[in-house]
Amino acid sequence: MLRGEVKSRTPIGLRAQSLMDQGELIPDEMVMEMVGARLSERDTMGRGFVLDGCPRTTGQAEALEKILHPFGLDLVVDLEVPTGLVMKRLASRRVCVDCGSNYSTAAPPLSNWTCDVCGGEVIQREDDTEEAIERRLDLYEAETAPLISWYTARDLMVGINGTGSPDAVTRRVVGAIDSRRQQEKVAP
Ligand code: ZN
Repeated sequence: MLRGEVKSRTPIGLRAQSLMDQGELIPDEMVMEMVGARLSERDTMGRGFVLDGCPRTTGQAEALEKILHPFGLDLVVDLEVPTGLVMKRLASRRVCVDCGSNYSTAAPPLSNWTCDVCGGEVIQREDDTEEAIERRLDLYEAETAPLISWYTARDLMVGINGTGSPDAVTRRVVGAIDSRRQQEKVAP
């Protein structure tokens, strides 16, 4: 979403770009302004939506609660993966520079590091080095892990085993969504 705003040089994209050029993090309010604008579009109102990797802080979660009021979220999924495996997955990750599609050294694009989706170049991100990954994991512990208890207190949290093949993890996620739907049906 952020990449899209920067690329289309929208007012918020330009502000974000200048912060990133100075090596600053994008503040919660700006992130949530973008999310709020996207969630107010017609498709999400009708079909619902999945947010991946957002919110990342309790500040963002509070802002999201306000944006979605009075509807709120149906379910929050925590994909549980041991730290060693996270390191391995991130170190083998490769990303399309144009559309952001994810690949890995184990599951590369069909032809010679050219994106299957858009034909862009597929590379290793500069911040996918071991040092940068460790910094991100520290940031996760400090900023994002507190969301687990935040959402548990709101009875929205479900922890899912994130190890194994993408298909296996997808089946577990779909199963968790189905059982939440079932619960809602039988709830008084
Ligand atoms: Zn691409």
